Parts: sequence; C-alpha cells; structure tokens
Amino acid sequence: MSSDAMLAKLRQLPKDIERYELLRNLQQDNAELFFQLLFQHTEELLPYVYTPTVGQACQEYCARGFSTRGLYLSAADRGRMLQKLRAWPQQGISLAVVTDGERILGLGDLGVGGMGISEGKALLYTVAGGVPPSSVLPVCLDVGTNNKALLEDPTYTGLKQRRLTGAAFDAVMDEFVSAVQAWRPHVLVQFEDFGNVNAFRVLDRWRERCCCFNDDMQGTAAVALAGLLAGMRATGGSLEQQTFLFLGAGEAGTAIGELISQQLMRRHGLSLQQARGRCYYVDSKGLVCAARRQELQHHKLPFAHDRPFLPDLETAVRQLKPSVLIGVAAQPGVFTATILSLMAQQHQHPVIFSLSNPTSLAECTAQQALEATAGRAVFASGSPYPPLVLPGGRQVFPAQANNAYVFPAVGHAAVLTRCSSIPDAVFLEAAEALGAMSSSQQLAQGRLFPPLSEIRTACEQLTAHLVQFMVGSGLGQLPEGVAAAPGAAAGWLGIVQQRCFAPPSGGGEHAASGGG
Ligand code: NAP
Ligand code: MN
Repeated sequence: MSSDAMLAKLRQLPKDIERYELLRNLQQDNAELFFQLLFQHTEELLPYVYTPTVGQACQEYCARGFSTRGLYLSAADRGRMLQKLRAWPQQGISLAVVTDGERILGLGDLGVGGMGISEGKALLYTVAGGVPPSSVLPVCLDVGTNNKALLEDPTYTGLKQRRLTGAAFDAVMDEFVSAVQAWRPHVLVQFEDFGNVNAFRVLDRWRERCCCFNDDMQGTAAVALAGLLAGMRATGGSLEQQTFLFLGAGEAGTAIGELISQQLMRRHGLSLQQARGRCYYVDSKGLVCAARRQELQHHKLPFAHDRPFLPDLETAVRQLKPSVLIGVAAQPGVFTATILSLMAQQHQHPVIFSLSNPTSLAECTAQQALEATAGRAVFASGSPYPPLVLPGGRQVFPAQANNAYVFPAVGHAAVLTRCSSIPDAVFLEAAEALGAMSSSQQLAQGRLFPPLSEIRTACEQLTAHLVQFMVGSGLGQLPEGVAAAPGAAAGWLGIVQQRCFAPPSGGGEHAASGGG
C-alpha cells in the first residue's frame, strides 16, 4: 500500500483508538512505511501514537490483546534480569524508556498497560529525536497493580498481585538499573510515569550514579520553563517579575517550580529561598504552607512558605494574585470561568498553562482560557488543541507544552556523548534554547514552541546545542568518530544531523512542512 492510500485509510477510520491500532500494526508489518508516514505527517499523526490517544491505548492494552516489541520484566524475574537483557534480540540498544505503569498520564495505575507509554516515548525518540529505532528499548516493569478492575479482569496479563512497595520495589528497580548498566554501560535510562511515592526516590538514588532522568519531572520542567521564557518574550515581561501558582504539587508541579527557581538564581541573581518564594502550590488539601509542614511529603517542603493557609484555588488566586497559573493536578475543568476572569482582572497578560494529560483531564481548554481573558492570556496545554479564531479575528495556534520537544534531544545528546550523568543544568540549557526558538511572528500567533510539523528540525538544533554543552562542560565526550570539537554551532549541528535516522523517502511525495 502506498503512503497516500494508507493515510486515506487512516483518516476514514471512525475512532482515534482504531488509528492507533492501525499504526501499531503497520509498525510491525511495514516499519518503513510507518516511519515515512510519521515523518511526513508528524503533526497530524502524533496525537494517535502519543498523547492523548496513547492514554486510552494503555487503558485497553490487555483487553485489546496488543503484543509488544518492548521488554516486560516482572518481579518474578528477580535474579535473571541481566540474563534476559543478554538474550534480547537487539543488542545495539543505547536508550531504555522504563515505566512501572503506576501513574500513566493522569490516568493512574494501569499496570502492564503502561507498556504503551514506554512504546510511545520510544517512538518519539525516533520521530522527533532522530534516534535509530533499533537503539531504543521500551520497558515495563511489572511489580503488580493496585487497580482493582485490572486485578479482576480476565484479560489482564500482568501479575495479579498488589504492587510491591518500599524495599521490595527498590530491589526490583535496583536490579533493573544495575542489569542495564552491566549489559550496556552507556545506556541512558529514562524513568517514565512512576507514581510519586517512588519517582522522587528512584531519581535521587540514580541521578548521579548513571546516565538517567525522569521525564515527568525534569523533561516537563524544561518544556514548561521554555514555554514561560517564550511567553515572556511574547509579552515583554521578565521571569523575575512573576508570581507562580501551581494547582498540583506532585512530580510535575514541584519539578517545574524547582527549575524555575534555578533559572531565577542563575539569570536573575535571586537566592534559592527568594526564588522558591515566588512559587506557590495548592494541592488536594489547599495551600501548601508552613502550618502544614508535619503532614507534607518531602518534595513539597521547599515550597511550604510562612503564609496563612488558604483552602482552595479560587481563594489562592484572589489572595496571592499570581501572574502565572499552572495546572498539573489531573483535575478536569478546575480553571473555572471565575478563576480565569480573576487572572484577567489582575494581570494584563496572565499566563495560563493547563498541563494535565490527556485532554479529558485538562484544567481548561484553550478556548476557555482565551475567551475569559479577552485573548490576552499566554496559554499552553499538555495535549493539543486545534487553532481557533478570537472574536477580533485574530487566529491563535494554542501552544502545546509537549515533552517531546525536550526529552528526545536530551536523550539523544546524552547517548551521542556517552554522558556520565544528566544534571539539571542540562535541562536549564534545553529550556533556554527551546524558549528562544519561536520567531516573534509565531509568538504573536500564540505559538510558544516551534510547530509540531517542525519538531525534527527543532530537536536537531536542541540536540546539537546540548551535545556542545555536554562536551564543553565535561559531562560527556566527543561523539564517536569526531576528532576535535567544532568551533561553531553549525559544526555541531552537522555532527548531529549525520547521526540522525531518516526513513527511506519512498513514493517521492512529500507533505509540506511548516505552517499547519
Ligand atoms: P502526581 O505526582 O500524582 O501529582 C498530582 C498532584 O495533584 C498532587 O500534588 C495532588 O495532591 C494534586 N491533586 C490531586 N487532586 C487535586 C485536587 N482536587 N485539587 C488540587 N490538587 C489536587 O502527578 P504528576 O506526575 O505531577 O502529574 C500530574 C498531571 O500532570 C498529569 O495529568 C500529567 O499527565 C500531567 N503532566 C503533563 C505534562 C505535560 O504537559 N508536558 C508532563 C508531566 C505531567 P496531593 O499531593 O495532595 O495528593
Ligand atoms: Mn510521562
């Protein structure tokens, strides 16, 4: 089948999940055509292979009988993980994306259905980051599930036991990460969609000992900070003048606050305490504040400021008058018309980031944010929204704060330079570079990031920038086959482009890129 015919067939299907399934099967049966399609129609097809559709795919993963190209390792494989890796058919792996399925998007515990998220991320490494598909390994660790429906579902293929916790969980993680390193010493491990009971601990344990990062925290933080920096360019504001209010103080929220704080320190001379003092959080119990210190999880303590408790988001918006409102609580619709109007009353250009995924969990839609603020808001969402026309006739392309702008570049750069570890400085570099990419014309259209149709070019540039940074800062080494560091950015870009995967361009037809 030609790529045109396949595209026509896809477009005719009634449901997104059917498109997901068709593309999944195509990847198995005709990888060449699959990658051609994804490379040529990235903006159109990404939502089917990634968020939002991948959420439903993970929910129905076992029921639909998906078979995977990824690797399942279960608690029952303890003691044999290295053996299993050594028996894996692809031995040229340079990158592993691993989840335990506990917090898939904002959908919660989906057990082994979480494999879909590792597969989706692995795909983006190729489609956005240019990493050859044969070097990426999607992994799902099966440590049980606390999802009752799955435990009772006869089609569920994972371990039918409650999740391992504490030391038993850590033993599985330790064996996995150690086995990967013994297998292929320079493999980058990306932690994905772990529940926050484990995510912080796992990252703390490994971040300085091997090449790894957590995309929900560090990748999200970088893309959000990039969006904020682009937003500042769009409105003429400065990060230093902002007050940030987050709904949700979990992995994503606190990681964004930490990265903002580091940026305020390194570019605006604030102390750590001053910088964190600009970030406020409302969690499921109300404002995170000093009076709650006894009951707060560790990651919230840096933001437990000495302020009176406030019971809910609306009160917090009234009292704290944030100029930036960021939703990362997976609570749909909580940015109400009242809250959005308050933001518009209090600031000329309020920043509204509705980051919860998938679309069904968004705090507000692009339309709601722009209508309530007479088009003055700087908006970004986690899942995509179609372009819209404001009452005055201005067309807006709602920005998507998609992690896919950052993690493929960070991962590819780390692999090319055989990085020993990935400190936050890398994510700050990534955020600044990404935040500077949109032209002023694009910013005026609401685009805070390059269009998805140009994501590959954006990732190449970002990868080149990060390779240069990693080599220059001693975190990594010159890529194999490169004798000396190039003097100019173009030289680094050339090195990266040479190593990027591109599918054979069969058929000769090419979709226009740009615009969109
Ligand atoms: P998480 O670690 O589980 O944190 C969720 C937070 O939301 C917790 O602090 C929780 O409060 C809070 N929360 C829950 N119900 C609430 C309510 N009714 N009112 C106020 N706060 C409430 O999850 P996460 O990893 O941060 O992810 C959260 C969301 O962000 C997900 O939907 C995810 O898809 C999305 N996300 C988006 C991107 C992106 O757009 N690029 C990237 C990463 C994550 P408690 O602490 O009190 O329990
Ligand atoms: Mn994730």
